[in-house]
Amino acid sequence: MSQDPVIGAAAPQVPGDDHPRVPAWAPPWLRGGLAHVPSRWRGGGPAGVAGRALLLVTGTLVALTVWVLSPGTGDVLVLAGVAAAAVVLLGASSVLPWQRWSPRAPIVFPLAVMVALAVLGRGTEQVAGAYVPFFVLCFVYVGVFLPPHTAYGLLPAAVPLYLLSSEALEPTVVVRTVVVSCTWLLVAELLAQLARRQRAAADVLVRDARTDPLTTIGNRRDLEDRMVRLVPGDTVVVCDLDHFKQLNDTRGHAFGDQVLREFGAMLATHLRRDDYAARFGGEEFVLLLHASGTGPAMDVVERLRQTWCDGGGATTFSAGCATLDEVTSAQQALVAADAALYAAKREGRNCTRSAEAADGWGPRVGADSVRDLSHEL
Ligand code: GH3
Ligand code: MG
Ligand code: MG
Repeated sequence: MSQDPVIGAAAPQVPGDDHPRVPAWAPPWLRGGLAHVPSRWRGGGPAGVAGRALLLVTGTLVALTVWVLSPGTGDVLVLAGVAAAAVVLLGASSVLPWQRWSPRAPIVFPLAVMVALAVLGRGTEQVAGAYVPFFVLCFVYVGVFLPPHTAYGLLPAAVPLYLLSSEALEPTVVVRTVVVSCTWLLVAELLAQLARRQRAAADVLVRDARTDPLTTIGNRRDLEDRMVRLVPGDTVVVCDLDHFKQLNDTRGHAFGDQVLREFGAMLATHLRRDDYAARFGGEEFVLLLHASGTGPAMDVVERLRQTWCDGGGATTFSAGCATLDEVTSAQQALVAADAALYAAKREGRNCTRSAEAADGWGPRVGADSVRDLSHEL
């Protein structure tokens, strides 16, 4: 599938999605957890949230275990200083303009954890070296949340900080550093590749779920999501190819399919950048024309009709349009546009009718008729 279901440049979005989205490839528990984080703590997107979680988890584990080591007064002061720095970083990280920075910028979180571990290693006696295994957690974070190969950038900082947090520089420590460095890189890169594959697979699934496979424009599911975001002044147009059954019967279904593909491609190519088209079902297509009003919307449809005709379209199409106002919902506009389409069919086909002219806002409009429509279309 080569074409995004979206006509124009607008990227697919979840309605009301004001925050960077939780990655679709994340496991359910992680998605659930991230989705419940209050918006003011979501700065930096999932990598920012997970970075703050890394700081909190590390801090909590240190706090829960440090008493076993019976730290002296000096050690407690160092621990308190590190904790205060972590709190400052946590607060600052939620207000920083992450969106303006590189996706690798959250590397500051594992870096901060490692600096804290080095300070604990150098500045304390009883606590020194106890928390060195947290280094691997930092690389896990980098692998899962940051772009591939970021771990290579972290390594030059991680090695000296690891040495600082370890005991004296003995041959065993040097060998161990080489071994753990390779392990960190391996873990981070493996996770990064897995995350990338899963993300790509999830993107394909999401795109396929919203795309009509025959025409590669949006499908009904995608349309329904977009209709929720229509505002007064936007126009819904329902187009239906004329005598399509006859076309199938005389020239075969494969030819019919080709006509549908060409019609979808014509819409995708000739609609305005912000407008949108979906295949609603069969030989019916719905257009969402933004801030156009009925008159300009009918002009757009007539321009499409001319283009389709000039391109030698195998059959004509009829259309009905309805513009949302302050009191009508998108679903009601769809019902009204459908009624206008049937008026166009009755009046000879190959033409466009507005809901106003066709009395499409008449008795069919309402909650019940919205349900009725799903049987009719
Ligand atoms: P009208 O002008 O009143 O719209 O008549 P019509 O023949 O276009 O409408 P009708 O609803 O009678 O027939 C629609 C036809 O569209 C029937 C169905 O077989 C055909 N159709 C639906 N989906 C597809 C498809 O994916 N491919 C092909 N080739 N035909 C399809
Ligand atoms: Mg039809
Ligand atoms: Mg038809």
